[in-house]
Amino acid sequence: MTVLEALKAAEKRLQAIPEPRLDAEYLLAEALGMSRLMMLVDKSRTLTEAEAAAFERMVSRREAREPLQYILGSQSFMGFSFKTDPRALIPRNDTEALCEEALRHIRPGDAVLDLCAGTGALGIAIKKLCPGAAVTATDISEAALSLAQENAQALHADVRFLQGDLFAPVAAEQFRVIVSNPPYIPDALRGHLQEEVEKEPALALFAGEDGLDFYRRIAIEAPLHLSPGGWLCLEAGDGEAAAVAALLKNCFTDIRILPDLNGLDRVVSGRLEASIQGTPFP
Ligand code: GLN
Repeated sequence: MTVLEALKAAEKRLQAIPEPRLDAEYLLAEALGMSRLMMLVDKSRTLTEAEAAAFERMVSRREAREPLQYILGSQSFMGFSFKTDPRALIPRNDTEALCEEALRHIRPGDAVLDLCAGTGALGIAIKKLCPGAAVTATDISEAALSLAQENAQALHADVRFLQGDLFAPVAAEQFRVIVSNPPYIPDALRGHLQEEVEKEPALALFAGEDGLDFYRRIAIEAPLHLSPGGWLCLEAGDGEAAAVAALLKNCFTDIRILPDLNGLDRVVSGRLEASIQGTPFP
């Protein structure tokens, strides 16, 4: 079987997914241990038995709607390659808009908190792109944190990881910038999402009846953990940006809503009101 024949057969089997040919190409390149473009240069190359078997296993997993990134084991975010597996949510390209907004407010020397860090993509990318920042990343999931730690090690990023519910692990600390992509999908959508998304950790996705549970908690608790004039930068779910901005109105100023790569309102940021001096719990 040649590369071309393998791709055609897989494309047929993967017809139910959105981009069957592209996924087949990524999977075969992974099975062959080469880049997609190098593979496509020689489509008449014959697969070895081991390569064909490895490809077959990958296509079967994808046919069962396992996310492509869990099969490939990595996803690029802000130009860095992050290891991905079911321990944490897969980094989304749309979240790069959040990372860029946070970076606009971060200066060398700043203490930065990545809340609900998952794979660690946000905190690690921030540390890589602003090495002078002191980055802390927290998550309630031990499993997610172990993956985040592996990512930090692989990317040589000196990030402090702490396990716990939202601000609990940093109870007495303040930060210049807090960035978070918290869970934000309404509970009622469970079982109705894209099949691949349902294979990601529920803990990373669902956030109460209206999807705003974590924003409510963050809007109340973040002021206690921001230094004077500090910034809060949040990712918002589809259609949620205005509601998130409204939650910040009491304690924050300069509130901005920014779009993602698809032009959808995705990021909400704001600066702690000068009159509000965060006092962490003694
Ligand atoms: N962006 C993810 C999705 O729409 C959800 C991530 C989250 O809840 N923070 O599938």
